[in-house]
Amino acid sequence: MIQKKVAVVGSGIAGLAAAIRLANSGIRVDLFEKNSYTGGKMTVYEQDGYRFDAGPSLFTLPHLVDDIFESCGKNPRNYFHYRQLDNACQYFWQNGKKMLLKADYGENIKAIKTNFGHSAAQSARKYFNDSKEKYELTEPFFLQQSLHRFKTFLDFRVIKVIAAIPRLKLFRSLNNINEQYFKDKELIQLFNRYATYNGSSPYQTPGIMQMINHLEHGEGTFLPIGGMHKIAQSLTLLAEEIGVRIHLNQKVEEVYSQGKVINSLSIGGKMKIFDSIILNSDVHFAYEHLLDEKIKRPKKTLAQAPSSSAVIFYWGINRKFDELDLHNIFFSKDYKNEFEQIAKNNNFWVDPTIYVNITSKVELKDAPEGCENWFVMVNVPPNQGQDWKKITNKLRDKILDRLSMELNANLRHHLVTERILNPIMIEDLTSSKGGSLYGTSSNNSLAAFIRHPNKKLKGYRGLYFCGGSAHPGGGIPLCLLSGKLAANWCLEDIYN
Ligand SMILES: Cc1cc2nc3c(=O)[nH]c(=O)nc-3n(C[C@H](O)[C@H](O)[C@H](O)COP(=O)(O)OP(=O)(O)OC[C@H]3O[C@@H](n4cnc5c(N)ncnc54)[C@H](O)[C@@H]3O)c2cc1C
Repeated sequence: MIQKKVAVVGSGIAGLAAAIRLANSGIRVDLFEKNSYTGGKMTVYEQDGYRFDAGPSLFTLPHLVDDIFESCGKNPRNYFHYRQLDNACQYFWQNGKKMLLKADYGENIKAIKTNFGHSAAQSARKYFNDSKEKYELTEPFFLQQSLHRFKTFLDFRVIKVIAAIPRLKLFRSLNNINEQYFKDKELIQLFNRYATYNGSSPYQTPGIMQMINHLEHGEGTFLPIGGMHKIAQSLTLLAEEIGVRIHLNQKVEEVYSQGKVINSLSIGGKMKIFDSIILNSDVHFAYEHLLDEKIKRPKKTLAQAPSSSAVIFYWGINRKFDELDLHNIFFSKDYKNEFEQIAKNNNFWVDPTIYVNITSKVELKDAPEGCENWFVMVNVPPNQGQDWKKITNKLRDKILDRLSMELNANLRHHLVTERILNPIMIEDLTSSKGGSLYGTSSNNSLAAFIRHPNKKLKGYRGLYFCGGSAHPGGGIPLCLLSGKLAANWCLEDIYN
């Protein structure tokens, strides 16, 4: 039998996951990546003795990475190691309140009782139970399967979810749900924050997103040994070992159809023909720049707003701050206005919520002795032509002032090396629409259903989609699942 050939465009983690699963099923896979490295948003910077993970910093559901190795008959521990962390995140409010939450419901209920009292702790207990229930109910449907295939709806677990739809609070915002459980505005803000895990606003994203906090507090948080970038590195190693042909510095310029089959692409003006194509590039980018004009555009899907983007400062700090943990959040005073600016007005907020991630707290080698590597991020809207140089300078000043005040130290005197990433740079490096971090936002009740399916459905054969802007969405776990869904659908079409 002639070996079937599939091209994967883009080596983000979804593209790598798809390529590995296809190659492992006997397909000849060519993976084209425009950059000189694999991993897309999951990359690394090294500067003046400091190591920074440039993209993702929070790692949940590590079994999804292990599953890729195991599906190829390999022991993941020969490629990739991670540690489970006790602490989830440390929170700071401007009224002086501070709280450390752990990856343990019981401990968190105790912390909430100490800081906010008995009644808040009772509410937290119920909230955690309900989050877990929502996660367990919906995960097999929303994450593990394609919402765009008839056979999905024949699964009994799906029928259970459909029956539970009124309880999932699809038509009420996450903030609305959180206000029902908690009275303290700090706790509402804390649980609203989980909307940002897929680049959305808690005032617009549906209440079902309550389940995201279960990932961190219930399923646990992890850190790969050697840093987040090891996830992409180890998948790249596996891909090469099982025969994926990785072509770096190869930008795909166009993707064409031959009749009703989308199976060809061009690089450097040269056409290459395959049996099928999997696109890991952002869906907006694909329709705007890659796909043959005669291929019909899915208007509703493309009308979805991209998720939020970010301005990130990678700072080498020449001393240690023992009051900080691996993950730290310094909340703004007015969360509602912050998201109004980001999600509605495409602007940044003058008093932003600041996330500080310091991997050298755990991975000592990530900074010189006695020093720390700070990844400092604030959420901003995606690029729509804003003056990012001006915005970045303003944000930098605000952040340095706020953190210096909170930590009682003039940070400007301790900052010894710096690198910056903003939405235009993210867009340029990864071709994501406006530099969005998580593909399309989930800022409406039906976002999960409108997100691009893992296959081009109407009128054509041969084209599949994976990555943050395709089903089931952005973030490491969902992108890994997206790669799996796209590869499996492609394999089913090839072999049936
Ligand atoms: C700063 C930041 C912080 C984040 N924090 C977290 C976090 O803490 N936890 C979490 O789970 N997620 C986080 N995310 C989101 C997560 O990184 C992404 O959802 C995920 O990595 C996206 O993977 P992807 O497969 O969609 O591909 P991407 O990473 O978007 O990569 C797509 C690849 O396709 C390539 N490509 C595009 N077009 C072409 C073409 N025409 N030809 C060839 N190659 C092409 C690009 O160069 C790129 O390498 C963060 C992202 C960023 C940027």
